[in-house]
Amino acid sequence: MNASDQDTRTDHPSDRLAALKADMAREAASVGRDPARITVIAVSKTVPAERIAPVLAAGHRDFGENKVQEAEAKWPALRAAHPDLRLHLIGPLQTNKARAAARLFDCVHSLDRPKLVDHLARAAATERAQPLPCLIQVNTGEEPQKAGVIPPELPALIAQVRGCDSLDLQGLMAIPPVDEPAQLHFALLAKLAERHGLSWLSMGMSGDWEPAVRLGATHIRVGTRIFGARPIS
Ligand SMILES: *Cc1c(COP(=O)(O)O)cnc(C)c1O
Repeated sequence: MNASDQDTRTDHPSDRLAALKADMAREAASVGRDPARITVIAVSKTVPAERIAPVLAAGHRDFGENKVQEAEAKWPALRAAHPDLRLHLIGPLQTNKARAAARLFDCVHSLDRPKLVDHLARAAATERAQPLPCLIQVNTGEEPQKAGVIPPELPALIAQVRGCDSLDLQGLMAIPPVDEPAQLHFALLAKLAERHGLSWLSMGMSGDWEPAVRLGATHIRVGTRIFGARPIS
């Protein structure tokens, strides 16, 4: 753990984010990676708009939400003030929310099944001028309750997404099982992305972003470390 993890002098999310970015830059440099090519997605689920606004005002532009409805309530007003922000959908998507998702989000990290690809492709074609950047979520631990395509079914899903003009497949996303070393899953995700010629790797959260950066993450998704603990839902 870094010294700044224990820094209690400030409780401002924008200060915590600045400290995280500095730590991330050191971690990236330690393995010869360019920190400028790693995006910190500030995960703002459950965080009210008035606590997000100062982080936007401080210049941060990438944010993550896991629910379409919550994002719909919070983000149109924030986007009106900062049209250049990028909103990432990092949670599971129901097909009946595909249209709203295609309107609201700049990037979807959670494509995980053929039916969802169909719906999101149709939604993106009607709702957007440009193709929607997407990542496929991979259930690297093959956990029955977890979202994500299992690795044996990944090649077919990649082919399907690549066949959709309105979707722009960029990479892979994963959430490792809680009871296994995250490194194994990050390394597997990196290998799968390389095999399929995909350049974005969305992996690493508050508790495991360091190994994710060492193993090639291009997007880390960090909530608690920036905004503090969330209420238990
Ligand atoms: C909530 C969430 C995060 C952020 O988790 P923290 O541990 O708070 O950093 C990252 N990714 C996904 C998919 C999430 O749902």
